This record gives sequence, structure tokens and C-alpha cells, in this order.
Amino acid sequence: MARIVMKFGGTSVADLDRIRHAAARVQREVAAGHEVAVVVSAMAGVTNQLVGWCQSLAPLHDAREYDTVVATGEQVTAGLLAIALQQAGVEARSWLGWQIPLRTDGAHGRARIAVIEGAELLRRMAAGQVAVVAGFQGLGPDHRLTTLGRGGSDTSAVALAAALSADRCDIYTDVDGIYTTDPRIVARARKLDKIAYEEMLELASVGAKVLQTRSVELAMKQRVRLRVLSSFADGPGTLVVDEDEIMEKELVAGIAYSRDEAKITVRRVPDRPGIAANIFGPLAASGVNVDMIVQNLAADGTTDMTFTVGRADLPRAEAVLAAQRASIGYAEISTDPDVAKISVVGVGMRSHAGVANTMFRTLADKSINIQVISTSEIKVSVLISAEYTELAVRALHTAYGLDGA
Ligand code: ADP
Ligand code: ASP
Ligand code: MG
Repeated sequence: MARIVMKFGGTSVADLDRIRHAAARVQREVAAGHEVAVVVSAMAGVTNQLVGWCQSLAPLHDAREYDTVVATGEQVTAGLLAIALQQAGVEARSWLGWQIPLRTDGAHGRARIAVIEGAELLRRMAAGQVAVVAGFQGLGPDHRLTTLGRGGSDTSAVALAAALSADRCDIYTDVDGIYTTDPRIVARARKLDKIAYEEMLELASVGAKVLQTRSVELAMKQRVRLRVLSSFADGPGTLVVDEDEIMEKELVAGIAYSRDEAKITVRRVPDRPGIAANIFGPLAASGVNVDMIVQNLAADGTTDMTFTVGRADLPRAEAVLAAQRASIGYAEISTDPDVAKISVVGVGMRSHAGVANTMFRTLADKSINIQVISTSEIKVSVLISAEYTELAVRALHTAYGLDGA
């Protein structure tokens, strides 16, 4: 007998038939004698609609009210799955974030989990009741609802698995595992049997939406046995494991892309000490994350600073920079939301040179212009025009020898 956490993503609970299907999967585990907690996402598309409503009313809306709105999607699916389970003869009870409680910090819209008080869930699970937990949401120190950032149900699931000392955390989704790149844009992407935590962490952080970055970080830290598998077809899925559990290490594990970035260029800033701090300090203070940065010097002693922020943060970043115009002293600001970040990731890069060069050469051969570059120990990222996203990912997938049959 094992204790397991099963997480169903948006497409896996997209309508009542799929919710019944998810219930049947849960029932199978219960019938096998396991103690089960289930974490659910909102029905596919629902969170986008809720976010859209907030943005339409006010681009710079209050993050506490945003959380009140966007957390509702998971309340619906948690209740429905509990009903479907009961209907199938499985004892079940739904739990919202505040009822557990799953406590978070106060960073509304992208809160971090602080602690999960799991004693009552454990007691009921031991008595045979399935706990159906609304993902993505928690309770902040201000006693208000919080949400964990887009894709946050993955993190709810891993955190719950850690808090309940679960034997494994199974993430059920609409693909049958983790691939060398998004199988929806590269038909020859290969499914991996195993991937190292570090590689999955890096892939997630540069845009591979199959797992939320924090969920991988948490699984790695808390030693949660994490698996990604299909909710529609039976199969072993992909296990996320320690690096030394993978015998055959590839140079490049995978390729990811993100269209969620926007480029900002601050033009003709006086080139003197403190200018980067003047620009990035106020952005950080307003909760805007800056990702890639490049600085160009002009002959006249001014500099252009180009950087990327999350696309959703663009209105806030523009507002902050406009308010700081006098202290930064720039001539103008231009923005471009039509960019994509393409990244290649692999632990093999630690010991092999030339990975970045293969990337630059491959993109050059396709006449794709690179706007910004950033690198880390196991990753190279470039910013390109969004229209070339698919072309770039496919070309790189082939160039690194990742194509499957
Ligand atoms: P869920 O709603 O179940 O959380 P997501 O849409 O968040 O599902 O994540 C699954 C999607 O992640 C897949 O449909 C796929 O398009 C995308 N994806 C991106 N990169 C990868 C990858 N390397 N391997 C598998 N899926 C990926
Ligand atoms: N429903 C939330 C989202 O769409 C959380 C999740 O699906 O993981 O971002
Ligand atoms: Mg997801």
C-alpha cells in the first residue's frame, strides 16, 4: 500500500466526461489499496478567461482581487471531482486552499507555499477518504486567497506530496510524458523515460509548460518522486530523477520556447555608474522580473539598455519606467511583445564546448536574427522574432540530433 498524490491538469478535467474519467483513474488507485490525495486544475481555458476579465477591467488591477477571481476555477473542479468520485462509490471530500490550510506568503498572483497543515487530510485518507484538493490556491498571511502563478497546480501537488510524505506524485496531463521539446510543435520530438531534476528545472524555467518551475524545484529539494503521464492513455510516462540515475547523458536534453516575454529598450541613457540600478531597482521593487539583458554603448556617451520582462508585466514595467523617467534620464522607450525566447538545455554542456555555437550557426543558416543572448551553466537562450519560433525549435531539434524516428 502506498500514499500517492495524483494531479489532473486543465485538459484532464475539461468537461464532465473527463472528470468522470479522472474519477475512474483515482478509483483504480483506491481499489489497489492506496491512500490518495488528488489535486485538480481548473477546466482548460477557464483560468485564461478569468485572467482576461481582470485585465479588461483594469490592466493594472489589484493582485488580491485578481486572486479572488482566478482561484474560482479550481473550486469548481474540486467539487465536481468529489461528486464524480462519490457517484462511483468512492468516499471523497473536496478541500480549498484555506480549508486545509495551505499557507503561502503574501505575494498575490505568484505566492510561494509556506506550509501545508496536512494532519486532518492524513487522518481522513487513512480512514479511506480521498482528499480532492483545489490546486493553484492558498491562504495568505492577510487571510486572503492567494494563487501560485500560472501552472501552479503542479506546485500544489508536489508540495502536498512532500507535506503528506507521499510515496509518489503523479502529474496527469494531455501528453504521455516529458519530451525533448514540445511535441505539439515538433512532430519528431522524443519522449524521455527519465530526465534529471536540474534539466527539467531549467527547461521549465525557460518555458516548457509541462511542469511549473517551482514544482520541479520543490520536488528536487524535498526528494519527491515525480512522474508525468497521460490521463488518457496507459503508459509509464517520464520520471524526474537525480542526474546520476541517468546512464546515457545527452549533450542537450531538450529545447524550450517561451512566447510569454516582451522586449523593452530604454534608449539613450547617460552612461555612468548606477544606471542599471536606476532602471532595474524600481522594476524589482514593483515585482517585475527582468530576464535577459543587453547593453549597447553609443559613441556619444549614451547607452541603450535592452531587456525582457514577462509579457503580462509589460504594462506595469512601462508605468514604472515612465514614472522614473527623470531619474533614469532616457530619451525614449520602445517595446516589442512579438518576441520569443528559445533555449537549449543539457547537463552535458558543463563539460562540452560548442553548444552555443551550434545554436548560433543553425539560426544563421535559417536567416533568423538573434536579438539578445543569455547563458547559464547548462543552458543557452536567445531572443528572436516570435514568427520564427517553430522554425527555430525544429531546426535546433534536428541540429542537436534529437529527432526521433
Ligand atoms: P496541464 O493542463 O495538464 O497542466 P499544460 O498545458 O500545463 O497541461 O502542460 C502540458 C503541455 O506542455 C503539453 O500539452 C505540451 O504542449 C507542453 N509542453 C511543452 N514542452 C513540453 C515537453 N518538453 N514535453 C512535454 N510537453 C511539453
Ligand atoms: N488553472 C491554473 C492555470 O491555468 C493553474 C494550473 O492549471 O496549474 O494557470
Ligand atoms: Mg500545467
